[in-house]
Amino acid sequence: MRDIVILGSTGSIGVQALEVVAANPELFRVIGLSAGSGNHALLAEQAKKFRVPVIGTSAKEFTSDSPAGVSVICGRQASPEIASMSADIVLNGITGSIGLASTLAALAAGNIVALANKESLVAGGDLVTKFGRDRLIPVDSEHCAIFQAMLAGKRTEISKLVITASGGAFRDRTDLENVTIDDALAHPTWSMGPVVTINSATLVNKGLEIIEAHYLFDIPYSQIEAVIHPQSVVHSMVEFVDGSTIAQASPPNMKGPIAYALSYPQRIARASTPIDWTESNTWEFRPIDNIRFPAVALARKVGEFGRGMPAVYNAANESAVSAFLSERIGFSSILRVLSKTVEKFESSSLSEIRDLSDVSALEQDTHQVAEEIIKKEENAA
Ligand code: MG
Repeated sequence: MRDIVILGSTGSIGVQALEVVAANPELFRVIGLSAGSGNHALLAEQAKKFRVPVIGTSAKEFTSDSPAGVSVICGRQASPEIASMSADIVLNGITGSIGLASTLAALAAGNIVALANKESLVAGGDLVTKFGRDRLIPVDSEHCAIFQAMLAGKRTEISKLVITASGGAFRDRTDLENVTIDDALAHPTWSMGPVVTINSATLVNKGLEIIEAHYLFDIPYSQIEAVIHPQSVVHSMVEFVDGSTIAQASPPNMKGPIAYALSYPQRIARASTPIDWTESNTWEFRPIDNIRFPAVALARKVGEFGRGMPAVYNAANESAVSAFLSERIGFSSILRVLSKTVEKFESSSLSEIRDLSDVSALEQDTHQVAEEIIKKEENAA
């Protein structure tokens, strides 16, 4: 029986993690949950159903009835506090770099972190990896695949990581100027939260994942590739020095990676549905069109630049996506805002990230710079 904590429990990853727990009550006990301010009723319901002793919300107060016998922590520190409870594993399913504080808190408390919050590594990779890498288990499907494929050889035998990308909603679309929010939210193969779905349509998500892979696996950017794979069945691959490529494949379903991370090194029977070999399967792979989708090359560049630049990339994108979702700018402006913001910071002297407050300060600066660029995009429209 493992004691687990789930952060971001009302989001897409959190809800599916609780489904994994519900299907395997003999394996897991949930000892803490945290969520944002959006859905307190669901958080209360989860606490009741799984008999969770402690829950937390980033909101100032809990707006739902709290179930009897459950203590509720409120405010910004709620999630980091719950992350530092003594647990066998802390699943961080928070979306956005707001999740970094909780990742750091969990690691500082000696916990193992099942990391679905890629922004922790993008915004604070140097801070997170100071704790070493052996208490980090990836939940992102691509990184979970790489993690598994890496077991096929020695570290020194790895020549390349190959991250697959579905290509998002506009894989085959050439006119990206007039894309609507609904178009962008319709992902062809994965069902995810709105921000990740937009990031998938711009391929910023793949850019973030390259940076995430660099920090998780300590592999240079020159040895991390991304390739379009529309079926999303091969979740990523590791190429070894002898020319062999090891892939991990399963129909797209986040329960696979979630269950793997929660139960590693064991596998949970029937965690997700396997490939049906009685039907015809076609798997295609093709290179990324870097002209139409410049986000990946830009991520590689900011990654190589290092210091706070990946945090700038992420924060600028958060500003741009939120401006797109509130209909202030068009879809194609997202990448313009992102690259123009990164450009501004390239010419300034970015210093090393020393702690969480350095990250927050840099993100605030980035949001300000991005906001000015967003206003210009609005006026130009
Ligand atoms: Mg992913």
